[in-house]
Amino acid sequence: MSTGLARRGRETTRFGKLVIWKCQGCAAVLAPLTGRCPSCGARTLEPISSAGAGVIVSCRVVDRTPDPVCGAPCPSIIAIVALDEGPWVYSWIDGDVPVPTERPVRVRFRSTQPGERFPIFVPRDSE
Ligand SMILES: [Zn+2]
Repeated sequence: MSTGLARRGRETTRFGKLVIWKCQGCAAVLAPLTGRCPSCGARTLEPISSAGAGVIVSCRVVDRTPDPVCGAPCPSIIAIVALDEGPWVYSWIDGDVPVPTERPVRVRFRSTQPGERFPIFVPRDSE
């Protein structure tokens, strides 16, 4: 990963917002970690804040192997979330297995280490 992408990764969750990108060439709205516009090829992308709401397009339970931190397998749900603004993001789902899909979700942020957060999504009807 380039330093530019690492920086964009941190910017993805800055100020507790999910940051997505708007192309200054064609006004397309792009997913986090996008480096250039897939529509017109422009690299001039403007950060905008997503409302953090969307629906689950697809998800699956991933049974991770036991690791020293958990000490046991940690079932997790990975999903593709279609943000209301349009872009699709890969993320983790916190909560029950969201079946059926197309369930409304909202972004939350989980701290990993100081200064680092990553977005997860929780079902909106469990709030
Ligand atoms: Zn563009």
